[in-house]
Amino acid sequence: MTRVAVYPGSFDPITMGHIDIIKRIAPHYDRVIVLVAQSSQKQSLFTAQERKDLIEKSLDLSNVSVDIFEGLTVDYMKKVKAQVIVRGLRAVVDFEYEMTMASMNKKLTPAIETMLVFASPEYYYVSSRGVKEIAMHLGDLKGLVPKVVIQALHRKFKK
Ligand code: ADP
Repeated sequence: MTRVAVYPGSFDPITMGHIDIIKRIAPHYDRVIVLVAQSSQKQSLFTAQERKDLIEKSLDLSNVSVDIFEGLTVDYMKKVKAQVIVRGLRAVVDFEYEMTMASMNKKLTPAIETMLVFASPEYYYVSSRGVKEIAMHLGDLKGLVPKVVIQALHRKFKK
């Protein structure tokens, strides 16, 4: 059996926190798919295609690929025969949301497991939302996101 994990999220944009999770889980699976959620309800700064391109440029792992999907994560997972959803856990505030999502996905598809990975201490405070806030006010983003993301954010917010 090929062990396939899906790491779904908005990734608007990808941060060092996300990259840390991806690097840490990649050795444990045959394939990891970073799944960019294309949501009509959630407004994003970057388009799904832009988010995908930034993730691809930020990663260099042979067993990791990036895809875009609009719909339920579990439906995508059935399509690609993936068994595990990976999510990252930062502070306690993430817990309730992640538990609800995991329970909902379990109800929809009992065979799929959600694995939660703790954020590394150096990234537990990093969020896409925080990064966008800093970028909007032209603050220093070094160490929070990859260089390509800093450049893309500067293009979005340049005066
Ligand atoms: P969503 O909008 O679905 O929450 P995000 O792109 O914000 O998607 O995050 C995707 C996943 O990565 C979530 O499980 C989130 O908790 C996790 N995550 C976000 N930032 C970090 C970080 N700094 N360290 C570890 N995990 C993180």
